[in-house]
Amino acid sequence: MDLKQLIRDIPDFPVPGVVFKDITPVLGSTEGFAELIRVLAEPFRDTPITKVAGIEARGFTVAAPMALELNAGFIPIRKPGKLPHETASEEYELEYGSDKLEIHTDALEKGEKVLLVDDVIATGGTAAAAVTLLRDLGADVAGIAVFIELTFLGGRKALDNVPIHAIIGYD
Ligand code: AMP
Repeated sequence: MDLKQLIRDIPDFPVPGVVFKDITPVLGSTEGFAELIRVLAEPFRDTPITKVAGIEARGFTVAAPMALELNAGFIPIRKPGKLPHETASEEYELEYGSDKLEIHTDALEKGEKVLLVDDVIATGGTAAAAVTLLRDLGADVAGIAVFIELTFLGGRKALDNVPIHAIIGYD
């Protein structure tokens, strides 16, 4: 099944100059969604992952089913002010602007093996901030599983200390 055919390019969204990779046709396809989660989980099936962390909000749509697929718990990483309990936070740069991410300080036990999952890696700033949050809490970050990597933006440079499994790359 060719998942790339189900990814829709939206030019100039959310700002002029950005070609937004819209994954809603993948999520909306029974076969496509199942294939995405199956292929994304493949390299981690023999790794004892105890938690999958996902980044708000599109990241949740991929990370939560990945947690179930890998028999792991789910950790939400969210925008400021959304998580109700005590949080740690980290600022990061976006392809279009800058923002902050938060995590519950009791989201994991020290030494837990955590897989970070997101929909898209662009500049890598978001994922790098999430890795920092997880490591600051004592996580052993096993890797990053991402559906789409915009390789031409060189996001891997910001993430050279963690293995990345991307399904589809755009040069
Ligand atoms: P970055 O921090 O630059 O790697 O940006 C990654 C985050 O922004 C991901 O969580 C994506 O959801 C979103 N994002 C950035 N650029 C795009 C794009 N061209 N298409 C879709 N999502 C994007």
